[in-house]
Amino acid sequence: MIVTVDARADGEAVRRALVDRGLWVTRFEAGDEGPVQFLVESGSSVASPSDLRSLEGVVSVATRPSPHPRLDRQASQVDVGGVAIGRGADPVLIAGPCSVESPEGIRRIAARLAGRGVRFLRGGAYKPRTSPHSFQGHGSRALRWIRDAADAHGMLVVTEAIGVEELAPVAEVADLLQIGSRNMHNPPLLRAAGATAKPILLKRGMAASVEEWLLAAEYCLCHGAAGVVFCERGVRSFEPSMRHLLDLGSVALLVHVHRLPVIVDPSHGAGRRDLIAPLSRAAIAAGAAGLMIETHDDPGRALSDGPQALPVEEIAELNPCPARTSHG
Ligand code: PEP
Ligand code: MN
Repeated sequence: MIVTVDARADGEAVRRALVDRGLWVTRFEAGDEGPVQFLVESGSSVASPSDLRSLEGVVSVATRPSPHPRLDRQASQVDVGGVAIGRGADPVLIAGPCSVESPEGIRRIAARLAGRGVRFLRGGAYKPRTSPHSFQGHGSRALRWIRDAADAHGMLVVTEAIGVEELAPVAEVADLLQIGSRNMHNPPLLRAAGATAKPILLKRGMAASVEEWLLAAEYCLCHGAAGVVFCERGVRSFEPSMRHLLDLGSVALLVHVHRLPVIVDPSHGAGRRDLIAPLSRAAIAAGAAGLMIETHDDPGRALSDGPQALPVEEIAELNPCPARTSHG
């Protein structure tokens, strides 16, 4: 931002007011008679142009147009089937298996999660697996299985769409429509997902910058999404002992600077169940509006992502808000 001060005003008083707001400023003089200008470094602190405009002596505050105006207008809470996710709301817990494996399996898991106060049931019917030889999901049948299991316990459904072709049936079943990491860079899918007018859970691409992630959300909102909840799930790194590097710095940035609803998925972040509990606590401390955890009632037999699946009975210990998220 550039703050311009009237030549006759007290430039030093304006500088002090900016510094008092925690801003890092550089002063420019436009000659003896000209106005004083301050360059305010982005990221030095949070300041609204309208606040700075109200300072005595300030004649204008120039800002660069935002590349994501729709997202800037999104409220810091998104409503998903009557549950608020974001600033000021209780943190939510989304849990369920990586894949919806069978009608009985998802029903069993849902029953046990509901009994532990979990409102959101997750599970993939369409799985974007890295290898074509891995289990690819049961497709449309599994959508019905997860919906029925959730309905039996008054739970909401989070499930992923991996292609424009299957979007309509997924949107019919999902309360929160997941766009996975591998598809964050897929504009046709982002456009079509937005056009369903559903709230979207937008996972961060595993090598995506924050700006690319924000712009992917902008795609969804420009095309009609009811809102976007961001999901940090770890980025690629040089470290082989964990599946990804869970980037809680970006969570703090999105929550505290951009005021956006962000949840954290430590399951894909770490790729190992022994780190889920400490990373969950760290995520909530960083400002996350919730957690998404992969769980299974028999992790050793899971058809996908078994090593990171937490046994169902351990889920209640993670619940960031057990009393208030329980129902019935
Ligand atoms: C998932 O949530 O099941 C998933 C495939 O995650 P990601 O897109 O983050 O890899
Ligand atoms: Mn998974």
